[in-house]
Amino acid sequence: MDCLFCKIVSGEIPANRIYEDDDVIAFNDINPQAPTHALIIPRKHIATLNSADESDKSVLGALSLAAAKIAKEQGFDQAGYRTVMNCNEHGGQTVYHIHLHLLGGKAMGWPPYQNKLKTA
Ligand code: 5GP
Ligand code: ZN
Repeated sequence: MDCLFCKIVSGEIPANRIYEDDDVIAFNDINPQAPTHALIIPRKHIATLNSADESDKSVLGALSLAAAKIAKEQGFDQAGYRTVMNCNEHGGQTVYHIHLHLLGGKAMGWPPYQNKLKTA
């Protein structure tokens, strides 16, 4: 399968792994938007959140639990952090293997968009 993140899981494409367990791996984003910007991905290929099903419940939970562990390891769990999963075009998804962004190490604004809200 021609999937960038499957190639990172298999080791065909290198990535700086910061965490791994039976369900997920995490590595630093190539274009970081915060002092820590990690991507946590399932070992299993799931293209978007829309394609996840009941059998993926535990792996979806594993993504969030890994984020909390990494935040603790890196020492910003108490200060706080953000996790984000983008879905499809309006969500800003560019890699079609689901991934949870973990952003930490600085205070972030809310809401996350700068443009005026557009419908459609
Ligand atoms: P998305 O926009 O799909 O939510 O996020 C994709 C993320 O993957 C982006 O933040 C982008 O910088 C990151 N990314 C794209 N290609 C690579 C790569 O080859 N290696 C790493 N480490 N990150 C990547
Ligand atoms: Zn994949």
